[in-house]
Amino acid sequence: MSEHDFGPERPDYLLPCPFCGGGEYRGSATHLPPRMDGPGALVSFTIRHWCFGSVSGAVRSSREVRAAEPDWAIQEWNRRAGSEEPETIDKMKKENGELREALRPFAQAADDCNFGPDTMTICDGMGLDLTIGHCRQARTLLSQSSEGGET
Ligand SMILES: [Zn+2]
Repeated sequence: MSEHDFGPERPDYLLPCPFCGGGEYRGSATHLPPRMDGPGALVSFTIRHWCFGSVSGAVRSSREVRAAEPDWAIQEWNRRAGSEEPETIDKMKKENGELREALRPFAQAADDCNFGPDTMTICDGMGLDLTIGHCRQARTLLSQSSEGGET
């Protein structure tokens, strides 16, 4: 144990996990072996988190931050636990919605032109390499992927 170790409660200086808001937290310092003249030097500091609601003992959703200094690990955890991830998820949902919109005409083309081999070129003579197979792929992807940002 070192002065920086903590767990399983979240210390006040750590932001809560943006996904579960609870769970268990553990901070542990790794030191070199103790020497005659005192404790071993700090090698690294690791913050681990296990999400609330995941099954104990089985595969648990966990996150880990490791840095050379406890303060750096805490900063890194708080940066990631802060505003970044919800924004990233929103951004990805928005992009997913836009990509789905962009794929829709191709999926429609696959419906409208439902004959011929996958290698059949659609825009023949324009130097494009767009085939009916591409359109069918777009249709398949659209039917498989979740709606994402659309509600
Ligand atoms: Zn969590």
